[in-house]
Amino acid sequence: MKIFILSSGEYGSRIVNNIAAQGFAKNIVGIEEFSEELPEFIDDIEEYIPSNIPECDLIISIGLFGDINLVIPAIAEKSGASTIIVPIHNPQQIPAGLQSEIKSLVKKATIVFPKPFCSLKPLGDEYIDKFTEVFGKPELEISGETQIKEVKVLRGAPCGSTDYIAQNIVGIPLEEAEFEAGNKLHNYPCLASMNVDPMVGDTIMHLAGYKAKEAVKTALGFALKSAVIDDEVCQGGIDCDHLCLDACPNVKAGDRTIYIHDNQKAHVDPAACGACEICLKECPYGAIEIFEEKIPLKK
Ligand code: SF4
Ligand code: SF4
Repeated sequence: MKIFILSSGEYGSRIVNNIAAQGFAKNIVGIEEFSEELPEFIDDIEEYIPSNIPECDLIISIGLFGDINLVIPAIAEKSGASTIIVPIHNPQQIPAGLQSEIKSLVKKATIVFPKPFCSLKPLGDEYIDKFTEVFGKPELEISGETQIKEVKVLRGAPCGSTDYIAQNIVGIPLEEAEFEAGNKLHNYPCLASMNVDPMVGDTIMHLAGYKAKEAVKTALGFALKSAVIDDEVCQGGIDCDHLCLDACPNVKAGDRTIYIHDNQKAHVDPAACGACEICLKECPYGAIEIFEEKIPLKK
């Protein structure tokens, strides 16, 4: 797999360095750096299209803000890439309208905008699936009876935060790991924005935190804090149109944190729930509560 990287700023360099250090150096056929000082609105994008564009399978564009992202369709065309990953780490980075414009200009390739990069999962696309064998939504294997003895990273965030979390939760009690995973992500530090993204109703840094905690919860087989919907109280969409589902930031970002059963009642996946409490305020029937106790996860 040949990868061409477009990068800008600290976020871009950190990911380039981590991807290269973890075995993808031989796959990187080129890196094009873009200044962070470029104007948000660009009249003539042709001026910014690099002269040397290598043939590649996958383009990863990291950290470019505003109109400069319009170089992506032309680069995809010239490189012959069949897949493009454009991670979003800041709500101002590529507004929804610009994303649609880029999508409409990319004629022959699959393009995805994971928000954030550590939410990327296999999608049935040859190159995304190869990339996510190593990088994307974190997955861990954890051993230990009462304390964490060993943590193996099965899939790590492209920025390297999962490896940092894995190294730094060894030795702590299992019951503290879920919360410590969130703290360690902040310490790393996660470079995703702390501004609320209007498209999801939460910050992208929080979304990254939910993914880090989900990896720990899934590996341990239990969650210690989650929204829970009372099946007796939930009206199953009658006079509420499943407002909880529409409000959940994880659902808006493409996950199944809240899902609807055949009987139309809503349920929460405690592994994925970030306990942000947004759905609690939306349910007109008060059917949702935050549980702070050990919730076993279904296999
Ligand atoms: S939890 Fe509340 S908002 Fe969600 S489907 Fe049930 S009643 Fe409607
Ligand atoms: S508390 Fe509700 S809105 Fe927030 S992540 Fe959990 S299910 Fe989604």
